[in-house]
Amino acid sequence: MPDSMQRPGEFEIIRRFFSRQRVMHPETELGIGDDCAILNFAAETRLALTTDTLVAGVHFFPDADPMRLGHKALAVNLSDLAAMGARPRWALLALTLPENDPEWIAAFAQGFFGLAERHGVQLIGGDTTRGPLAITVQALGTAAGRSAVKRSGAQPGDAVYVTGGLGLAGLGLKIRQGAYDASDEEALDRLDVPEPRVGFGLRLPEFASACIDVSDGLAADLGHILEQSAVGAEVDWENLPLSAGVCRYVADSGDWEMPLVAGDDYELCFTAPAMKANAVTLAAEATGTRVSRIGTIRAGSGLSVRRAGRPERLWRSGYLHFVSRETTDESPPR
Ligand code: ADP
Ligand code: MG
Repeated sequence: MPDSMQRPGEFEIIRRFFSRQRVMHPETELGIGDDCAILNFAAETRLALTTDTLVAGVHFFPDADPMRLGHKALAVNLSDLAAMGARPRWALLALTLPENDPEWIAAFAQGFFGLAERHGVQLIGGDTTRGPLAITVQALGTAAGRSAVKRSGAQPGDAVYVTGGLGLAGLGLKIRQGAYDASDEEALDRLDVPEPRVGFGLRLPEFASACIDVSDGLAADLGHILEQSAVGAEVDWENLPLSAGVCRYVADSGDWEMPLVAGDDYELCFTAPAMKANAVTLAAEATGTRVSRIGTIRAGSGLSVRRAGRPERLWRSGYLHFVSRETTDESPPR
């Protein structure tokens, strides 16, 4: 058996696949190898922390490409940091693996570190255990000197924006499930290897009054901004940024709700006062990010969607764990 094919044990996995990396931050007093990692900060540093788990059979198909999985496990966490306007710096990785297949782990590590290096993220610890395939990543970022962008700051009159495009991951999932027949690499890539909007996220403190990343569907996630800011919003369906493939899906299926309720796009949905519109445009140009204005914050509560000039009722509200159906919101639009 060639050396690369020998089955590594827990510590061998950590040493061989996760201990070597290019990114090392000066604040890292202790990284992988002891009982804890130690970060040593100057005063006034503010840390943003987040964690997300991907479980086989729930968040991804058990036979998913390990390199794409390594990317996604980190990407979903960097997306949370981006939504706060934080700069990603460190990560912890808890891996539960059904078997110690070195090729699988090497590909996973390649996907993970590929994204980590692009965004200056140092892996400083984690856990490696045997069991049903699941991946938990914790990401730490800094929001030095500036206030983080919360969900609670939206004001009546603010414009509602979204980066990139909506419904791509939803379309990718329908294709992968065999529920819709199309060849759309863009949609499959969005589902498997989403790009966290880190560069644009760093600009958010310049103009955003509130922000959230779109992981459970725009309606559900914008709904969190509305609840926490105690406001309502109007969104025009015609202003949603939809790819040609998503438009074709909507035309073929009549399922116009999909771009509003499908999850996994990892775009940023944010609000900004009207006087900041220019700053939004500048940040979009400087970071090469498509940004679309999709609606307006109003006094009151709840999301109203207008399509072809008429108010529509949303029957589905997004993905919820512990709820048996995608359809959860039976209340009429407010
Ligand atoms: P402990 O039992 O004290 O929690 P472990 O033996 O589990 O420590 O891990 C040894 C070291 O390797 C620790 O520093 C831990 O953070 C790190 N580590 C374990 N698994 C991973 C992983 N998948 N990726 C990165 N670091 C890891
Ligand atoms: Mg210990």
